[in-house]
Amino acid sequence: MKTKVIVIGAGFTGLAAAYDLARQGLEVEVFEADNDVGGLAGTFEISPGCRIEKFYHHWFTSDLAILGLIKELGLDPQLRYIASKTGLYYANSTYRLASPFDLLRFKAIPLLDRVRTGLMAIYARSIRNWRALEEISAESWIEDIGGRPAYEVIWKPLLQGKFGSEAANVSAVWIWNKLKLRGSSRDAKGTEQLAYLQGGFGAVTAALQSALLRHGATLHLGSSVDEILTHQGRVTGVRTPQGRHEADIVLATVPLPTFLKLTPELPPSFCEPASRIRFLGNICLLLRLRRSLSDTYWLNVADPSFPFVGVIEHTNFEGPENYAGEHLVYLSKYLPTSDALFGMSDKELLQFALPHLQRMFPHFSADWVIAAHVWRAPYSQPIPTLQYSTLIPPLKTPISGLWLATMAQIYPQDRGTNYAVIQGRAVAKEIVASLR
Ligand SMILES: Cc1cc2nc3c(=O)[nH]c(=O)nc-3n(C[C@H](O)[C@H](O)[C@H](O)COP(=O)(O)OP(=O)(O)OC[C@H]3O[C@@H](n4cnc5c(N)ncnc54)[C@H](O)[C@@H]3O)c2cc1C
Repeated sequence: MKTKVIVIGAGFTGLAAAYDLARQGLEVEVFEADNDVGGLAGTFEISPGCRIEKFYHHWFTSDLAILGLIKELGLDPQLRYIASKTGLYYANSTYRLASPFDLLRFKAIPLLDRVRTGLMAIYARSIRNWRALEEISAESWIEDIGGRPAYEVIWKPLLQGKFGSEAANVSAVWIWNKLKLRGSSRDAKGTEQLAYLQGGFGAVTAALQSALLRHGATLHLGSSVDEILTHQGRVTGVRTPQGRHEADIVLATVPLPTFLKLTPELPPSFCEPASRIRFLGNICLLLRLRRSLSDTYWLNVADPSFPFVGVIEHTNFEGPENYAGEHLVYLSKYLPTSDALFGMSDKELLQFALPHLQRMFPHFSADWVIAAHVWRAPYSQPIPTLQYSTLIPPLKTPISGLWLATMAQIYPQDRGTNYAVIQGRAVAKEIVASLR
């Protein structure tokens, strides 16, 4: 009889793992709480046949695992590499910050600090021992290497936009990794190249879904797992509102706090450090506009009075001709789920956002808005605090046959679909090896 594996969650980790497990001849059943696959990188239809990510997404040219999977799925002819148009909104002006030359022209900080900031990426790439950075805060590391003015103008608003009140607790490992990653996604002229797929991230999840079905796997959408069942230290299956489902192996790819709640039998030595990992939620407003706001794709906002991490005009990356001429703009914020903004209704959030957009783009008018969509995720970003590595749970849990592959275990890199694929495939390989 075939070994039966239940995979909980059909985000990129769950889909990648299930794909490899099914290809290895295992009987695979995937349970996904949502009515669609993709998780945080999920998409939705804005017009017949036209899908867009709920939360803005792109890949770096160095995201080799996901780009490799795209090739394996036969989707590489649809891949596009695009020079990213990145900017920084500071003191009511937009500065282009896509290449080292742009940085040298950025007069908001003294010349010496511009040079120091430019050298940060080169320095970051030379660091091999990231463990030493675990003891230092991102703030003090940036100040030491790039100088205080660069920290105040460029990095502090970015750290606060991304981590809010937790910004001071973020370790230098996070910023080191970001600098290294962005440095490795540049062309010979130093311009950052990003990747996207015609049809978006939904084209990858659709191809994975078809491949799963072809390899005999079963996918249950709208099927939330309420409990992971165990008996005498061994996993026996899962419980959903539809009943009990037995399995030899269970792989959970849900957010870590959800996993801890689903599994009552875990020992304190596993749960105690894992439960100290804190998360931020994300609220994302997608505006479909008649006109374009600017020619920048990714506008970081260094203005503490602007309540979003940035303005991401997706159609300055993948053109409006792909979306029936509409201009698509994301306004996103990472925040604790207790924040009032997270609890706003869709309409309230739109009304709240429009005046801020008008202040930044004086020519913008509310009647440009064709439609607005709001997406919320309670666990969108683990906070990489000092000594984060000591909190990370292993892939193989102390319960026999129960495995865990979730965003919070991705480290020292930050989470992303590339790492979800790496981790999903790695855990599938370990599961198969454990059966031999
Ligand atoms: C705002 C934002 C922007 C991002 N931008 C990028 C980007 O540009 N590029 C990039 O590569 N990555 C980006 N990411 C990160 C990327 O989306 C994630 O790293 C990746 O999607 C995580 O995949 P996952 O499968 O590990 O987790 P998830 O996507 O969280 O998947 C977990 C799945 O489990 C399901 N689930 C939860 N509970 C249960 C349950 N009880 N029973 C059954 N199913 C359950 C969920 O519905 C979900 O589908 C971004 C994320 C956010 C929030």
